[in-house]
Amino acid sequence: MNRVVNYFRSLLLLELLRGLGLTLKYLFRPKYSVMYPMEKFPQSPRFRGLHALRRYPNGEERCIACKLCEAVCPALAITIDSEQRADGTRRTTRYDIDLFKCIYCGFCEESCPVDSIVETHILEYHFEKRGENIVTKPQLLAIGDRFEAEIAERKTLDSAYR
Ligand code: SF4
Ligand code: SF4
Repeated sequence: MNRVVNYFRSLLLLELLRGLGLTLKYLFRPKYSVMYPMEKFPQSPRFRGLHALRRYPNGEERCIACKLCEAVCPALAITIDSEQRADGTRRTTRYDIDLFKCIYCGFCEESCPVDSIVETHILEYHFEKRGENIVTKPQLLAIGDRFEAEIAERKTLDSAYR
């Protein structure tokens, strides 16, 4: 029975007419196109964009070279070398992130015990030369220095859910 009904439905082009009706219905409704880049969607405080390394207010880098972020990274995008300082503390001598490998999962940020590595709200960046996809420790610290106010604000907004 179903086959007969379907046969007559296909002859009458009912699906096509239903589709055209839907098009007609939305033709005169207000449009919601976002005129990017002049207009942008609101962004969650949890948005995971370009990485940054943060410092404490006294200028000391937060990272203690525990390598938890390197271990947890599912894409093996983080490479860390470290050494012990004269005062006995451990700090990184190399902290590279390969942004071609990174899948922006946020595990590195979640795992960091000192809120050092974070993913910022920055989503508009590009590379022009081979190798620029590897962001180094000085670059990550510079991003952190530049956007510390925004990073701290987003951390505060999200703190109620952690
Ligand atoms: S966001 Fe995920 S994939 Fe990217 S560096 Fe961090 S842990 Fe690795
Ligand atoms: S960024 Fe955080 S998790 Fe990664 S090595 Fe430094 S302190 Fe450890």
